[in-house]
Amino acid sequence: MIGSFTRSARSGGPTPMRRYLRHRVLSEAPTPTDHSMMQRALELARDAAAKGEVPVGAVVYETHSGSILAEAANARECESDPAAHAELIAIRSACAARNDWRLNDCTLVVTLEPCAMCAGLIVGARVGRVVYGADDPKAGAVRSLYQLLEDPRFNHRVSPIRGVMAQESAQLLHDFFRARR
Ligand SMILES: [Zn+2]
Repeated sequence: MIGSFTRSARSGGPTPMRRYLRHRVLSEAPTPTDHSMMQRALELARDAAAKGEVPVGAVVYETHSGSILAEAANARECESDPAAHAELIAIRSACAARNDWRLNDCTLVVTLEPCAMCAGLIVGARVGRVVYGADDPKAGAVRSLYQLLEDPRFNHRVSPIRGVMAQESAQLLHDFFRARR
């Protein structure tokens, strides 16, 4: 039903109502799989905290099958690498595992709102779905500071699903930084 509707909607011009309906179709709710993947991402974040890393975890899974392609945690300290963010490592591993740089049929689940670097990579890798936990008011480039994933000037757009287990993610970060003070 939705398929035939969007096909007929696309044949017409971009009226405000059509834009609204298209957006509504894309802004879906998190699935049970998204929730269990977020639980896994939180575990990875907790392990990272134990190693002195800012606790952020990420999982890339195949949307239709729910099978995990890659998972990673922030490794900036261990690797002495400013680019070693959880989602960047996970996206690169997923692409390597599939021997394909495109992830249209995949979902990225990450505990914290992606930064500008990672949002750029999400667009570049054509990630099909993005689910994240807590907002990052200091560096978030998906909602907080920029809305890079929904910028119409890019040739790939994805409406992120936010706030999934956000309390747990934020608490983990809060505890980590409080312990380091
Ligand atoms: Zn990042």
